[in-house]
Amino acid sequence: MMPGPVLVLACPRCGALHRCHSLASGNTFGAIVWTDGWRDAPMLPLPPLISRCAACHRFFWVGRAERRGALGTSKSVLESATVVTLESVGKRRVEVMHLVRRAIGEDLQEVKRRIDRLPTELGRYFHQGEVRELAARFEALGARVTLREEMSQVWRSTTPVGSESAPRVRDPDEAGFLEALAEGLAQEQDEERELRLQAWWAGNEPYRQGTPWVPFSQRSQGARDNLCALVALCAPDDVTQRLFRAEALRELERFDEARDILSGEFPAPLDRVAAYIRELATQRIAEVQQLGIAAAGRA
Ligand SMILES: [Zn+2]
Repeated sequence: MMPGPVLVLACPRCGALHRCHSLASGNTFGAIVWTDGWRDAPMLPLPPLISRCAACHRFFWVGRAERRGALGTSKSVLESATVVTLESVGKRRVEVMHLVRRAIGEDLQEVKRRIDRLPTELGRYFHQGEVRELAARFEALGARVTLREEMSQVWRSTTPVGSESAPRVRDPDEAGFLEALAEGLAQEQDEERELRLQAWWAGNEPYRQGTPWVPFSQRSQGARDNLCALVALCAPDDVTQRLFRAEALRELERFDEARDILSGEFPAPLDRVAAYIRELATQRIAEVQQLGIAAAGRA
């Protein structure tokens, strides 16, 4: 796994900045897959799908938030610069030499060498005020400078001001996903299905860590309603959604309905998952289980 840059994202509602990790590359080696489709993938720590804004407290889609830059990065840009060239020194040579020394930051020997071979470039300046002031000082001593506009490539920091201390985006818990749904974050059916799936996965999290299984009949009304709504949103003609639907029904202890769905054909390797869930449904086991099939591949 190779971490990518820390991105700086703006809340679409209020513009508050948040930090978000990114991945340069990752893989699913060592991943543990569960019957509900959740995958513990230590080498693929994905950024959150949605997050609550730390300032306005509303949820937003992390992947769609405007990128304002990244921490510690810079980019090359073309900027107009003024090249200042000393053409002649005039009579006050020593004073001009000191002025040149201040402008170029070199020792007197180098300054002398340059003045003996005029014209000499004194540098590139990006601020007009600075150029005018410098030119005026030379002219006041009787020296002559010329100014030439030139496009110059420079590196500019892309770290937005104040983003180092911005809060990180975070994965919501089950209640957070349900709140996001209630707020109307999902505009399309696909988005609603995704958020309901995430809420289900977040609700099952304690049982992946060894907490004894609590049946959905004993969980919150919100958790039950969410899973029933997800069943309705899973299209029967999509094999992955059909598996989600069967697994959700099994966890809701609607074992016969789950078995009916799983009696259809599934392409490899999903056929092994379908067979496993069907066996659990036959044994009237509702608990989420590790599949023991570690899917491997690059992301
Ligand atoms: Zn906000």
